[in-house]
Amino acid sequence: ATMSVASILAESAERHADRVAFHFAGGTTSYRELWDQTRAYAGALRERGIGRGDRVAMLMPNVPDFARVYYAVLSLGAIVVPVHLLFKSDEISYVLSDADADLLVVAAPLLGEAVPAAAAAGVPLVTVLLPVSSDAGLPRLEAEAAAATPIARHESVGPLDAATILYTSGTTGTPKGAVGSHLSIVEQVHTTLIDAFDLRADDIVFGGLPLFHTFGQTAVMNIALRVGASVILLPRFDADEALALMTSLEATVFTAVPTMYVGMLEASRRSAARPPLRYAVSGGAALPVAVLEAFRDTFGADVHEGYGLTETAPTVSSNPLGRPIRPGTVGRTLWGVDVAIADPDDEGAVALLDAPDALGEIVVRGHNLFKGYLGRADASADAVVDGWFRTGDLGTYVDGVLTIVDRKKDMIVRSGYNVYPTEVEAVLARHPGVAVAAVFGVADDVRGQEVHAAVVPHEGVTLDADEVVAFARDRIAAYKYPRVVHIVPSLPLGASGKVLKRDLVTQFTPVR
Ligand code: ATP
Repeated sequence: ATMSVASILAESAERHADRVAFHFAGGTTSYRELWDQTRAYAGALRERGIGRGDRVAMLMPNVPDFARVYYAVLSLGAIVVPVHLLFKSDEISYVLSDADADLLVVAAPLLGEAVPAAAAAGVPLVTVLLPVSSDAGLPRLEAEAAAATPIARHESVGPLDAATILYTSGTTGTPKGAVGSHLSIVEQVHTTLIDAFDLRADDIVFGGLPLFHTFGQTAVMNIALRVGASVILLPRFDADEALALMTSLEATVFTAVPTMYVGMLEASRRSAARPPLRYAVSGGAALPVAVLEAFRDTFGADVHEGYGLTETAPTVSSNPLGRPIRPGTVGRTLWGVDVAIADPDDEGAVALLDAPDALGEIVVRGHNLFKGYLGRADASADAVVDGWFRTGDLGTYVDGVLTIVDRKKDMIVRSGYNVYPTEVEAVLARHPGVAVAAVFGVADDVRGQEVHAAVVPHEGVTLDADEVVAFARDRIAAYKYPRVVHIVPSLPLGASGKVLKRDLVTQFTPVR
């Protein structure tokens, strides 16, 4: 046996052959079936000339074929490039060209954007899930796999060989391909299981986080398949459907971003269904303490908040199972992961701050770090200095407990005072009529920036903006509370369920 991300599925297929790997809209698939079809897909890809070091892009929702294609590519020693599901044709072709992709595998429903993208980038395309009756004239991986010889086993790779290229926009706005190694992912899986999440073969895990993103890919799929657990795949998140499905399939673990927690709480007001959750994991964005408490009280499951990034495979720290939860913090680092606080302004170097309660930029060191941004030596050198990765997040690290204060770029400076939106959002989340709130800065001639909040009321509740302003004013310092509250029906969300603050800033910046 060798260290390869592909061994996650290959070995579980032996140990857990008859267990259910995925629940999906069409039924279930066992570990044995999943690996057999993965080996068949790998055989077809090999006949297409895919081998060690080649790059295979994939554009797929959360369906079992995501896993088959993912592990098939990895089992050949090739590199997977999962593409963001919401990307339009130009964005897809940018990724294909930037990653120098050798092939694009597309699930049929996404062909509309994928076909022109592949043509523009000059990359061959093969489909999965295309109905046999389709006359689109496109090649089908299923048919090629039926005709090819399946691979017998996965190729062995070096621990530091590239496994994934995951595109992240980070702070600059231009997507960069973060290259992850087999070591970073396999180590992450094992340390997460040992230190943080305690997943078991009899667990049934919610799989509504998109698999193209590091959080769903590793913190859900890779760790669940490693232990022989079952994952409930949802191609798109709808809270009411998710609640019903998790209840009927008896889900035991809920891993999600905060907006999904809010959605589940809203759904719980419409339905009495409650899944038998053992515990829940939140990450990807700040979880307001009020939401953590409401979820625990409604669903009877403790919420363990963690912190991670695409560049760190992903988990850096978590509130581990078996230890008292510290709400509002992201807990303790995983084994082998170092965290420190650095001067956020000193861009050229990483100057660690010594004061035990220093607030500064979180930097991370460890086996889970990415290998760099593909083809971007400068950006890579700026991001990793002296072995420390600059996260772009502000926080504190006190007595081994990490607290995220906010993203550097989201911090608002109002009349010279720093306002951290996460803190203000946590206050608004305590308002009984508020389902979810997002706080952001809008350019202001007098104060530099003004604090605004977009607030979504609970269903059936009518909120008064002035009253929400007053609620916040009573609870936080005068320079922090939002002077302008916009009552909105929903917040703009990215495919990974995070609030798109840039869109809010654009929407609510007055046109002059
Ligand atoms: P994109 O690539 O679309 O720009 P992104 O910048 O959010 O997305 P990701 O790698 O998806 O990049 O997410 C990492 C970021 O998510 C972190 O830098 C941090 O700002 C945020 N984050 C993750 N977990 C938490 C948490 N528990 N609390 C607060 N913020 C978090």
